[in-house]
Amino acid sequence: MKKKYTTYFIIILLIILITTLFLFFYINKVQKLTIQNTLNSLREITKQDVSKINSITNEHKRILETIISEIEKQKVKTPQEVFEIYFNNLGSSQFSRIAIMYKNGETLTSDGQTVDLSNEKENFFIKDEIQISKNRQSKVDEKEINIYSKTAILNNEKVVILLVTETSKYEEILIQSIYNGNGYEYITTNTGNIIAKSQNSEENFNNGIYEIINDKIDNTKKNKLNIEKMERDLKTKKSGELVLYKGIGKYFVTYQKLEVNDWYLILVTQGSVVAQELNQVVRIIFVISIMIISMILIFSIYIVITEERKNKTLYNLAYIDKVTKLGNYNYFNENGKRIIEHQEASYILVLDIDKFKTFNKKYGHKLGDKLLYNIGEKLLEILPKDTLVCRIANDFFGIILANEKNIDIQVQENIKKLSKIIINEKEYIIFVTLGIYKTEKNKYNLLECFDKALIAHENAKGNLEKQYYIYSEDLELKIEKEQEIENIMQQALENEEFEIYYQPKILLKDEKMVSAEALVRWNRNGKILPPNEFIPIFEKNRFIIKLDKYILEKVCQDISKWKKEKKNIPIVSVNLSKEHFYNEDFIEEYIKIIKGYQIESEKIELEITESATLSDDVNIISIMKRIKQVGFKISLDDFGTGTSTLNMLQDMPIDTIKIDKSFVDKIRPENKKKNIIEYIIYIAKKLNLETVAEGVENKEQIEYLRELGCDLIQGYYYSKPIKLEEFEKWL
Ligand code: C2E
Ligand code: CA
Ligand code: CA
Repeated sequence: MKKKYTTYFIIILLIILITTLFLFFYINKVQKLTIQNTLNSLREITKQDVSKINSITNEHKRILETIISEIEKQKVKTPQEVFEIYFNNLGSSQFSRIAIMYKNGETLTSDGQTVDLSNEKENFFIKDEIQISKNRQSKVDEKEINIYSKTAILNNEKVVILLVTETSKYEEILIQSIYNGNGYEYITTNTGNIIAKSQNSEENFNNGIYEIINDKIDNTKKNKLNIEKMERDLKTKKSGELVLYKGIGKYFVTYQKLEVNDWYLILVTQGSVVAQELNQVVRIIFVISIMIISMILIFSIYIVITEERKNKTLYNLAYIDKVTKLGNYNYFNENGKRIIEHQEASYILVLDIDKFKTFNKKYGHKLGDKLLYNIGEKLLEILPKDTLVCRIANDFFGIILANEKNIDIQVQENIKKLSKIIINEKEYIIFVTLGIYKTEKNKYNLLECFDKALIAHENAKGNLEKQYYIYSEDLELKIEKEQEIENIMQQALENEEFEIYYQPKILLKDEKMVSAEALVRWNRNGKILPPNEFIPIFEKNRFIIKLDKYILEKVCQDISKWKKEKKNIPIVSVNLSKEHFYNEDFIEEYIKIIKGYQIESEKIELEITESATLSDDVNIISIMKRIKQVGFKISLDDFGTGTSTLNMLQDMPIDTIKIDKSFVDKIRPENKKKNIIEYIIYIAKKLNLETVAEGVENKEQIEYLRELGCDLIQGYYYSKPIKLEEFEKWL
């Protein structure tokens, strides 16, 4: 299960990692693209401005060339004429003024002024091509100006023609703001000196472009390297662009060569403003990625939860019993193994509820399930904490007690606690049967131990006196013997190995034999086995049904023989095992047998042991009634050992009560007064029932019973059970 989750988490982590990587690359790509786009559009803007400035300067140059060529064609001869024709008529809108400089530096202007420029006259006379000056202050009106100049021959004299433009003319072209006022354009020389700048830029004019840029950005190596590249580009007349960094913000710089001198148009703009669009995109991507990652997380949590649930249901199906919520057989198996492997000794207990089937039939399955649940709960409550309690199957519980010292006391106490189970506020009396096996470390495995506990359990089931049985080696021998008996019983019946011994019953009144009980013996190759060695086994495997019928048949054969011999025929009682009651057809079969020998049913008495009447699963009274109907006599055997109520006794259609030997045994001079036998006989008389005392062995008992008014005596005092030939002497 753990391995499965690890793979899950690895897969989920991989998905998250891949998504994050993908997003990282995607955002990076978008960012790069956006930067590229921004740079492209900035380059377009500067290009346009470059061409505007170029066209103005070219126009100015063209005008200057025209003027000079006119002058040299001798069309105009005096400065006044030059001013008249070229300034007033055509230049006034384009220029501030025209001026003519003479060799000595004396300069005449179109607005009638004479300015002395002798200290810089060399600058103007050197070249024979048009020069454009840096911006300077006008000596006429103190405005910021630039001067276009070229030498010319006016009236055979070398002069310089000057066209004066206001710097503000360029500044008008330079963008006033870009991206909400965070971008400015500059015209600079290739060393970075500023010629003109956007009008609303507040930067200090005297500073070069590099100071302006450095002021805005971080002092990092990366930025420095970029600026150095720009410096190199400017010196080598290359155009280009830069991205510079300020914290997380960016600055974009584009620089384009102008056609004028070695001038440049430079655009500096703050990236964060440009990147608003970009930020928007990044934000959307971020939100989407967060959503995707949370979806993946939610999905994986969902998978883990459903998987967990699925595992739990699978686990429950495999290991937990639905009815009791205890572990099931599988659970017992796995956990039991561990316990018996680690404990020096422990006890395995197999527990079942007596007559659970009857409980289910009587109260319904729902209550049956509740009974199982409550018993499970009770077991957990009364047993030590480290006890393993599982429901193995049906009404079977498997328990492993870790090394309990006195198991007998423990079990007896707990059986008592389990005997009363409350369901829906009603108390139910419950009997349980337990088989116990004491495990020893490294001797047997769990299944072998469990089998031994089952053997003990089976033995306890067949034992009316004890609710639990602890496994012993003897028990296994006993079981082997039982199996041996089972293997040969059928053959023994066919070989007529089962013989009848008769025990006379004497009427106390006149000491005459009036009836006898037929008791079975097994003659195995001359060795006589008493019934207690095989009857309990036959009751378990129901072979007793065949044997009882066989005994009846033998009894009938004997009676019909006595009839032929004209003997006094006593009433003969045969024992009727409770196993017959599960199939009522036995009554018809019994009738058929006696009819086959033409024997009246009144001559036969059926002995039914009192404990058989306690059975809940059969309606004993109605069976007795049918037995009576066909004419058999009924005697309630071993009376006093069961717990039939007075009520039942009143309802049972019986003829005789056989007082159990244990009461007769208690007849002694010292406790005569307290003997319960007195009450039994009293009640029997009240109910008009005949009484037989069993196991009477001495004179004293006879006298006491006579005193009490007991009707019949069966016991060694008169005779042991005897073979037919011997018994016939009594007839
Ligand atoms: P049970 O029906 O209570 O039979 C009376 C038992 O008490 C007999 O033992 C008898 O031998 C014994 N007994 C009688 N008088 C005395 C006495 O004075 N002292 C002593 N110590 N014992 C006395 P048995 O024959 O060993 O039979 C044992 C049980 O086996 C019977 O008890 C009966 O429950 C069962 N049984 C015997 N034969 C049959 C049979 O054919 N069918 C069935 N279903 N059960 C039978
Ligand atoms: Ca009997
Ligand atoms: Ca008896």
